[in-house]
Amino acid sequence: MAINLTGSNVLILGAGVTGIAVAKSLSVKGATVDFADDQLDNVDGFKVLKPDQVTVTGYEFIVVSPGWKESHPLIAKAMAANIRLVNEIDLAWSFRAELVPGQRWIALTGTNGKTTTVEMAAAMLREAGISAIACGNVGTTVIESVESAEKYEVLVLELSSFQLHWMREASFVAAAILNIAQDHVDWHGTFTEYARVKGSILDRSSTGLFNAGDPEVVNQAAHWQGRKVFFSLDTPAPGEIGVVEELMVDRAFVSDPQEAAMLAEVIDVKPTVPHNVANALAAAGLVRALGVSPEAIRSALQKFSLGRHRIEEVAVHNGVTWINDSKATNPHAAAASLMSALSSIWVAGGLAKGAEMSELITRCKSRIKAAILIGTDRELIANELRGQAPEIEIIYIDASSSYRKGEPDNSLMEAVVKAAAERAKAGDTVLLAPACASMDQFISYSDRGDRFAAAVKKVMQ
Ligand code: ADP
Repeated sequence: MAINLTGSNVLILGAGVTGIAVAKSLSVKGATVDFADDQLDNVDGFKVLKPDQVTVTGYEFIVVSPGWKESHPLIAKAMAANIRLVNEIDLAWSFRAELVPGQRWIALTGTNGKTTTVEMAAAMLREAGISAIACGNVGTTVIESVESAEKYEVLVLELSSFQLHWMREASFVAAAILNIAQDHVDWHGTFTEYARVKGSILDRSSTGLFNAGDPEVVNQAAHWQGRKVFFSLDTPAPGEIGVVEELMVDRAFVSDPQEAAMLAEVIDVKPTVPHNVANALAAAGLVRALGVSPEAIRSALQKFSLGRHRIEEVAVHNGVTWINDSKATNPHAAAASLMSALSSIWVAGGLAKGAEMSELITRCKSRIKAAILIGTDRELIANELRGQAPEIEIIYIDASSSYRKGEPDNSLMEAVVKAAAERAKAGDTVLLAPACASMDQFISYSDRGDRFAAAVKKVMQ
């Protein structure tokens, strides 16, 4: 894509964060930009059309925001008319060539741990004196990062399956797949398709980092021809990254494969729970591919702390630990959380997005003392519990008829916390790890986590 777009008409599907960042970038380059969005009428002075009113033939190309399905009638129309469809990542990639040609990109995807891992990798790069930013699905868009006055040496991209679905050109020095478990099956249609899209991050990558502990990731690796580096919590073979006793060890990016470089101690990763150590290994592998030293990796890990709503300790009271892991919006994330504590009063439920709960309950039932269930799809969880572990107490908490999401009334979470407090004994963890999305009863996962923390504070008083 040329950097001078004077005279081009461009349509952007979706006026969210990504769409708006793209619109600003393209209009600075001289393009005339319209949006198609059925939720909004006006965005920062740009024309917003209802999708069913758009005539696609007037546009040079169309930018698709993450989340838009290929089956959307407007996209079908554009395809039939042979109009080029691009996404933000590929646009940013084409501008990079002119704006910051030496900039290197590394990327990762996975069902869980993406944000944590890109932030870890960016911190490791900065610790090594390399200017770097985590971008993509994590806050700052890729296009803004490419065009930033900072002229970053490295971008660390977090890519969701929605972004990968539309990506055709961006290439990476190294890319990692953290894990692949059921999520967004409602959007992708089947798990196989979701897994295939996750695997496509490797299509134009030189080095691939793969979680050897995840069967579906190993399956994707089997179909790929580049340089494969497996990471796991086990002793690494030559060419791998892993854990030896209490040490994180690199046997992949060392000059002699019979040698091993000590990256960090496992306890440098906090909280020191298995899935977080796996994330740290993936981040370390990505930056090792760019030549970052073990010293910088260790020092960055020692200073690093997880973002909010991710296994966040909100209180310890009478020997009971209260944890907010509201970001556990699918069963795979909730399982990682449940396996990090020995005995939990588990708060779960919400929108399951087509995911099944059976594997989660099989893996974690021995860690669950009682389950407090809320939200639309809670029966999916309750059914599995009843079938697989009838001894586990199930408590349903309903919102009162006057409860409206987003309003000050926090009675729903307060009732949840009261029910948990009645059952928790010293040594137990009360764990909000819902395995579901939040939007049926809350504005977002952060609203759900904040309300949980506020209720804990209030009920503890
Ligand atoms: P993402 O950006 O993929 O949503 P986050 O780092 O925000 O990832 O974490 C999302 C959720 O997944 C949190 O609940 C976190 O505790 C959990 N999680 C983080 N890393 C992993 C992992 N490697 N495996 C399973 N769950 C994880």
